[in-house]
Amino acid sequence: MRKIIFATGNEGKMKEIRMILADLPVEVVSMKEAGLDVDIVEDGTTFEENALIKATTIHKLTGDLVLADDSGLEVDYMNKAPGVYSARFLGEDTSYDVKNQYIIDQLKDVSGNDRSARFVCVIAAAFPDGTTKTCRGTIEGQIGYAPAGENGFGYDPIFYVPEYGCSTAQLPPEVKNKISHRGKALEAMKKVICEYLVKNGEHIS
Ligand code: IMP
Repeated sequence: MRKIIFATGNEGKMKEIRMILADLPVEVVSMKEAGLDVDIVEDGTTFEENALIKATTIHKLTGDLVLADDSGLEVDYMNKAPGVYSARFLGEDTSYDVKNQYIIDQLKDVSGNDRSARFVCVIAAAFPDGTTKTCRGTIEGQIGYAPAGENGFGYDPIFYVPEYGCSTAQLPPEVKNKISHRGKALEAMKKVICEYLVKNGEHIS
């Protein structure tokens, strides 16, 4: 069975990708399960660059098919900040209560569509034949006027989804996974992986 390494230390992301790729003849393992302990410097300026840095670094070490992701929040009124710096925004150790309140304060004078924002996720694949591919998924929304909800993580309490009338932190996880940037990027990458397997004569039932 084809082994795929997902270059993440995040168990939630591992669970999600295993669910989405469950019907393919592949075994998805984490870096830890692959016995890898590598510190990768994510110094790209786009989500695509960062995801590719992670995937190709691990591919060069192992030769395996490697997937990696990079994601973040773009707030249009803040010139798409925090963007690729979402995890490091206002400092890596600053709590999300503080980060979220800061963003709400930045938008104190704007309403409606001027509060537009999106979560972005890019999944990169580095294939054994040396080729690479990226898939991008987004979810559009607005910055809420106050944090709301306990589900999810990070910026979820301030990310309001008009179609659902609530924040992504108020959505049940299975609903968020279906409509999320990460879910969409993973589904697109699943098609790319299928094509690669078929091209290389690996059986897909
Ligand atoms: P990374 O791709 O795991 O490095 O995540 C980047 C950062 O983007 C996270 O630490 C969060 O701050 C933010 N982020 C990415 N996806 C989400 C999401 O689904 N909800 C809330 N915050 C997110």
